[in-house]
Amino acid sequence: MLKGNTAIVTGGSRGIGAAIAKKLASLGANVALLDIGNEDQAKLVCEYCTEEFGVKAAYYSCNVADFEQTKQVVTQVSKDFENVTILINNAGITRDGLVMMMNEKQFDDVISVNLKGAFNMIKHCSRQFMKNKCGRIVNISSVSGLSGNAGQANYSASKAGLVGLTKTVAREFASKNITCNAIAPGFIATDMTADISAENNPLAAQIPLGRPGTPEDIAGAAAFLVTSPYVTGVVLRVDGGLGM
Ligand code: NAP
Repeated sequence: MLKGNTAIVTGGSRGIGAAIAKKLASLGANVALLDIGNEDQAKLVCEYCTEEFGVKAAYYSCNVADFEQTKQVVTQVSKDFENVTILINNAGITRDGLVMMMNEKQFDDVISVNLKGAFNMIKHCSRQFMKNKCGRIVNISSVSGLSGNAGQANYSASKAGLVGLTKTVAREFASKNITCNAIAPGFIATDMTADISAENNPLAAQIPLGRPGTPEDIAGAAAFLVTSPYVTGVVLRVDGGLGM
């Protein structure tokens, strides 16, 4: 279905990013994984994609918050791979704390990675998408960005910012066959949430579907958005009904 296309997945070494990379590879896409430092893990994901699905896969070390670095890496990916048409802005961090306790660095770091990182990637990839006459951008937001979450002013602001970025990019590039959508995951079992068990997290106990999500739940939604040319500007909640 995606044969002949190349997907760039940020934060692709583990968790949701790794699941999305594998899902897109299973549909035939070549994958370029961008990650800040988890080289061994990222290479394992690449090997899996190549061995299981016969696609080309490579890892690039990149801090998405760094404008120049993202520019260089996107240029390199475009030389190494053909037909870059898919961008998954998945890399994200948390630096939680109540506003009264949160320092400037905690706020700036989260905005830089989660929001500016997505802008950097979209800006640099858009040239390739225009050249290839096709683009499918998926930004991984969060239900925290839609409803707010005490202790996550920085994270919620970054994820709400992604919603505005998504809709603006969707409008700016619609005439160029470039779509831009967001996914708002709820409580997904990954390293990011490893210290929050269903027992001590009141939100987890409120999930109507009765379980935390899996990275594969998010990967399925990403595949849907990437393969849906008439869907743009959407924020798709994938949260077991949590945000209803
Ligand atoms: P995770 O397991 O902590 O993985 C985060 C990934 O992002 C890692 O691969 C990490 O690289 C990478 N990363 C972090 N900072 C980076 C940077 N500056 N440049 C490049 N890569 C960077 O997180 P996850 O749970 O899979 O979350 C993935 C996305 O979903 C995030 O945007 C997160 O906010 C969002 N989300 C998650 C949940 C949830 O419940 N898990 C809910 C809503 C939204 P390293 O491996 O090198 O550290």
